[in-house]
Amino acid sequence: VFEYAPAPESRDVVDIRPSYGLFIDGEFVDGAGPSFKTVNPATEETLAEVACAADQDVDRAVRAASKAFGPWSALPGAERAKYLFRIARLIQERSRELAVLETLDNGKPIRESRDVDLPLVAAHFFYYAGWADKLGHAGFGADPRPVGVAGQVIPWNFPLLMLAWKIAPALACGNTVVLKPAETTPLTALAFAEICVQAGLPAGVVNIVTGAGATGAAVVAHPEVGKVAFTGSTEVGRQIARTVAGTGKKLTLELGGKAANIVFDDAALDQAVEGIVNGIFFNQGHVCCAGSRLLVQESVEEELLAALKRRLGTLRLGDPLDKNTDIGAINSAEQLARIRSLTEAGEQEGAERWSPACELPEQGYWFPPTVFTRVAQSHRIAREEIFGPVLSVLTFRTEAEAIEKANNTPYGLSAGIWTEKGSRILMMADRLRAGVVWANTFNRFDPTAPFGGYKESGYGREGGIAGLEAYLDV
Ligand code: NAD
Repeated sequence: VFEYAPAPESRDVVDIRPSYGLFIDGEFVDGAGPSFKTVNPATEETLAEVACAADQDVDRAVRAASKAFGPWSALPGAERAKYLFRIARLIQERSRELAVLETLDNGKPIRESRDVDLPLVAAHFFYYAGWADKLGHAGFGADPRPVGVAGQVIPWNFPLLMLAWKIAPALACGNTVVLKPAETTPLTALAFAEICVQAGLPAGVVNIVTGAGATGAAVVAHPEVGKVAFTGSTEVGRQIARTVAGTGKKLTLELGGKAANIVFDDAALDQAVEGIVNGIFFNQGHVCCAGSRLLVQESVEEELLAALKRRLGTLRLGDPLDKNTDIGAINSAEQLARIRSLTEAGEQEGAERWSPACELPEQGYWFPPTVFTRVAQSHRIAREEIFGPVLSVLTFRTEAEAIEKANNTPYGLSAGIWTEKGSRILMMADRLRAGVVWANTFNRFDPTAPFGGYKESGYGREGGIAGLEAYLDV
């Protein structure tokens, strides 16, 4: 249940500096690479100039993390937990400011950054703080050991939440980290660096190196990095797997998805409509586990699509800082171009395109909520990840056909089922090749639950007890 307030959230709660350095060994320092701008995708206004870490900066960061590893890993777990609890509380205290900063840098609606991202970020730090002194009871043997320096590379869709998924378990287990945020959304990671200082975290335990793909590649390739954690595209995931192959580094990959949201004719259709909207239009569809393929049972297709279109007509697109906004800006011009090119392919291949009447702001990067019907499994919009507010609708007649179509993708990150039959939920959950299967809900996250993919969606799990294993030698 959201509170609605007419006023936009104030930009004044954030204090954005004109330029930012790298965070290495507890200090903000210059980078040797050419600095870059980060922009507000809703207005195209430059928010700040950000330092770029060249190879020698990444080396400095990894060496700082290596030096900090000895004393940090030697601390009793209960002492590490105190730092993590402190960080969690500071995130809560600064959550309004962090939510506004996330929305400015990323373009997502403030209602989402305030009510979804920030509470989950704090929850991950609280959850993993709780494990720091109980690792011997996590089922990995009595004395599991931290790996060493973790090199972590994250995408732009949930900048602070992806950071929390990576840093919280790494620190709880006694590792130190070098994290590279995405080049279009570095600001909340740098605010997090300030929180580490505020929490008194020893220097070198967390290092943040900003930059583009080359900076990420340098983190991954550094010989003193013992564990690599990557969230991003399947294409870059493949490159990273090649770099890491044969080095003995531990690797987890959280990659793309093309989830099926499956609606049976016995489902509560009004609830299913909400789930479909949440599944694909939450965060403008910049969600790896987005329900981007709607599979609807033929007998209810017409009724469901009519209700869905009515509902889409009520969504408000616009100023992400306005608390009434449902659909914010697309994160970058590059991502907007990708969405446009795939939707054009959808039309060319013969699918039928529909959007509600909706005016797009003149400045910034915007794309209207879009639904494609008459989609065939062979269409690119049914196979490739669009990572935007675009839903492809396919139909089925039988359970077997639903399972076949849902699994007919190289990905396997998530799926949704809408039905009133419990037995059908259990049977489908068993047969869907997806890391997460939601029943009568979608996009529900919790730090206690492991998350991760099958097939080309990657391997390894983040979250829950399973998420500890990636950061331990057992
Ligand atoms: P991306 O792969 O282009 O970039 C992700 C990160 O990797 C960025 O920080 C980028 O700078 C860095 N990077 C780029 N090239 C690199 C290289 N050669 N070596 C090391 N690092 C490199 O992905 P993106 O466009 O930022 O994010 C969108 C993708 O992320 C989507 O495909 C989405 O499905 C996926 N994603 C997956 C999950 C998940 O949990 N499975 C979560 C969020 C996003």
